[in-house]
Amino acid sequence: MYVFTPKDPLLLSKTLRAHSHIHGLGLDDNLEARQSGQGMVGQIKARRAAGVMLKMIQDGNKNAGRAILMAGAPGTGKTAIAMGMAQSLGADVPFTMLAASEIFSLEMGKTEALTQAFRRSIGVRIKEESEIIEGEVVEIQIDRSTTGLGQKSGKLTLKTTEMETIYDLGVKMIEALNKEKVMAGDVIMIDKASGRISKLGRSFTRARDYDAMGSDTKFVQCPDGELQKRKEVVHTVSLHEMDVINSRSQGFLALFSGDTGEIKSEVREQINQKVGEWREEGKAEIVPGVLFIDEVHVLDIECFSFLNRALEDPLAPVVIMASNRGISKIRGTNYKSPHGLPVDLLDRLLIISTTAYSEQEIKQILTIRCEEEDVQMTEDAKDILTRIGMETSLRYAIHLITVSSFVAKKRKAIMVDVPDIKRVYSLFLDEKRSVQMLKEYQGQYMY
Ligand code: ATP
Repeated sequence: MYVFTPKDPLLLSKTLRAHSHIHGLGLDDNLEARQSGQGMVGQIKARRAAGVMLKMIQDGNKNAGRAILMAGAPGTGKTAIAMGMAQSLGADVPFTMLAASEIFSLEMGKTEALTQAFRRSIGVRIKEESEIIEGEVVEIQIDRSTTGLGQKSGKLTLKTTEMETIYDLGVKMIEALNKEKVMAGDVIMIDKASGRISKLGRSFTRARDYDAMGSDTKFVQCPDGELQKRKEVVHTVSLHEMDVINSRSQGFLALFSGDTGEIKSEVREQINQKVGEWREEGKAEIVPGVLFIDEVHVLDIECFSFLNRALEDPLAPVVIMASNRGISKIRGTNYKSPHGLPVDLLDRLLIISTTAYSEQEIKQILTIRCEEEDVQMTEDAKDILTRIGMETSLRYAIHLITVSSFVAKKRKAIMVDVPDIKRVYSLFLDEKRSVQMLKEYQGQYMY
């Protein structure tokens, strides 16, 4: 299982290298898909649908589009689109990727593994106040329209060592802006979100009144330059991380080893209760993330009934599933169903389907991949590779880029050319030729 935030450098590591050229969904401001953008090519309808879902998630619309199924043939970009969505989510919105087969290989029950995946995909944004550390760079904006000092506004970046207190900073800023001094005893207003300072007057009562309004603003009085040096720190952790840290049998080190084992339900209840209290006190808010389950047809009937129930939970993330199966058996039963999913679960899902690529789209994707892998390739070689992609699979053609570039380098060529592609095509079989080979030489294999 891999959890990342879109700015995570691991996104560019081997784990997800196949999709490293994807940087978003490639949509314009009206959520229309560009033919090619942010590494994505074609699949216009599916990308547009994914964009609508994304917008709803970003707007905090928790009910709409809670569970999505991406259905389409292998290599038609289901995972790529999910990656594009992940890239477009905010930096602290959790995105968990899970291959359904992992559920069976972990040393824990299936439903426990799914529960952990769900809780990894829910973030808790916790607000805390902390001291501004000496030497820290703070950027504070002053908007003089709110201070009655005119319409101009400005921004100044200062190091805390350059000033004694926030009060001094306020003075410096106003001085810098129009040489008007904030006096000791003045009450200044600091907007928590933007760090914007404005001068309110000299009445402490008034500051308290404003504070009581519970706005996003913190008020600080400056009696003779003495001021609290405080700022708000916000960090986001997942519910699963909180479970692990609070689970006596695991301890937080388990977060690093990834070996978290099963977590007791009492621990989860305690965490839910604590988070509930923090939410009421305004100290925390829930950030629903996305759980992507690839090859969802590999799950069995017990997992599907778990999913049905778990999706009802108000604390459920948006679940995106992907399947490349048509009508197939529901694992753990003798029944067949579309995409290998039970009909009651299918009924809950919004389905986005992906379709086969045109020749031109395959060429475009291969060109993007060549750039991503720093491989120079002649147009003729690209044409042949595109034909291979059409006749075998896009994924196979993408794999040939890396090996053909290796072969080209061996012969000291700067560009991959037609003979390099032909060479690797004959060296490495695609799925169809491998099946053909098996049929021909079946007798020589073990069975
Ligand atoms: P499977 O059903 O086998 O899991 P999939 O539909 O999830 O397949 P992907 O893994 O997304 O297919 O696509 C295969 C490769 O092609 C990946 O490297 C992916 O990044 C790339 N790719 C697929 N579609 C697009 C696209 N529309 N634009 C750019 N790259 C794409």
